[in-house]
Amino acid sequence: MDENRITYTTPEQRQRERFERKSNTLAENMLRRVLALSRCPDSLTPFCDTLRRVYVELEDVRHPEGVSTVGTYCVMVPPELIYAHGAMPVKLCSGSYTAFSIGDDNAPRDACPLVKAVMGAETVGALPVYENCSFMAVPVTCDCKKKLAGWLSQRRPVSTLYVPANRERDESLEQFTAQLYALSDELAAVTGLPLRYENLEIGCQVMADAQRELSRFIAIRREHPTIIRGSFAMAVMNAMSYTWAPLWTKQLAALNGELEERARRGEMAVRDNQPRILLTGSPVVFPNFKIPLLIEEMGGLLAADETCMGERGLYDPPAVIDRSVDGIMRALANRATRPCTCPSFADNRRRIYRVRQLIEDYKIQGVVYHVLRGCLVYDYEYRRMEEELEKLGVPIIRLETDYNEEDVEQLRIRVEAFLELIKFGGGKA
Ligand code: SF4
Ligand code: SF4
Repeated sequence: MDENRITYTTPEQRQRERFERKSNTLAENMLRRVLALSRCPDSLTPFCDTLRRVYVELEDVRHPEGVSTVGTYCVMVPPELIYAHGAMPVKLCSGSYTAFSIGDDNAPRDACPLVKAVMGAETVGALPVYENCSFMAVPVTCDCKKKLAGWLSQRRPVSTLYVPANRERDESLEQFTAQLYALSDELAAVTGLPLRYENLEIGCQVMADAQRELSRFIAIRREHPTIIRGSFAMAVMNAMSYTWAPLWTKQLAALNGELEERARRGEMAVRDNQPRILLTGSPVVFPNFKIPLLIEEMGGLLAADETCMGERGLYDPPAVIDRSVDGIMRALANRATRPCTCPSFADNRRRIYRVRQLIEDYKIQGVVYHVLRGCLVYDYEYRRMEEELEKLGVPIIRLETDYNEEDVEQLRIRVEAFLELIKFGGGKA
């Protein structure tokens, strides 16, 4: 080897190296903190391994040979339809601080960090889960997603789905069903597998199995609100974004079995007197586990969440009345829009009902309302939520965060004060 040879690295290579170094450290650190929480179930390991594989080892998701992956950017893209076309859905909303710092240079200052992180991940090209996607589906739910769809479509094949602002009208359902048919045609072009009734049934069955196992998980948590920490549940739900659904279902069945065994022995994750918190608001996407971890490290129990990277993503099964291709497509369109509690819809009273229900089911003592900086749709709904919870006498705190660690100390102080307030029976935070 010629020792005098000078090797040059391009700015893109340097950016990529920096990304790999910093991104691995953050994701590994978050996983270490999750696993360090007391009474971590053994069956959590495969879920954390999946997150480690994607964010630390920077490897692609595991899937059967020959299967393409399709990136989705919202729970409103039905996974049933993607499985029906012989592909695997992967959720690409990003929680990477390192990707955010790169995307920050390309997006307007006030864009939300989730979208900036997606732009950064695309730009740096170091995450195989993005790189190997054959196709992406982006529902236009807010301005940030709309502009993201346009930006992404200059770089790779993208399907943009228009989501009706008013979901109650019949024509809104018609419109969204038509959007799903258009997406189906695009999927068929990518995978070579046209839409067939038998395959749609298989796609629905795969997701119904996952939903059934999730219902069992929810039932265990409702019956024993202190049986598992919410940070563990968040890892389970986030790992679903990158796991072949039948495998995830099997992993969740093992976790459910372990929790049922613990319940029989009366082994709870935390003591009964730890404040039980509900987390709602902007999505909590790995590795941005800042808020769930702060709540639990400061002595609270994250007993439930109302976020789309949590249970909401899989909570409502499609109600299929007419078992034909069109009947199933309508049921998927209906499920994606009508029961959804995302604030991107003009009228969102059902989110209040859902939060009230969760408060009752999980014996919640306080609500943490998470707002990602620039996420206006969630911020708009804060006041209404505060008024409703005041009527119930349940304290609420609004925590605005960004994708960095600069605000951690200030958040820690506020979370600690909130938990103290609950312990000593206070009202407003
Ligand atoms: S917050 Fe709403 S728009 Fe954003 S990913 Fe979740 S469901 Fe979709
Ligand atoms: S709903 Fe909020 S977090 Fe999600 S893309 Fe829109 S602004 Fe960002």
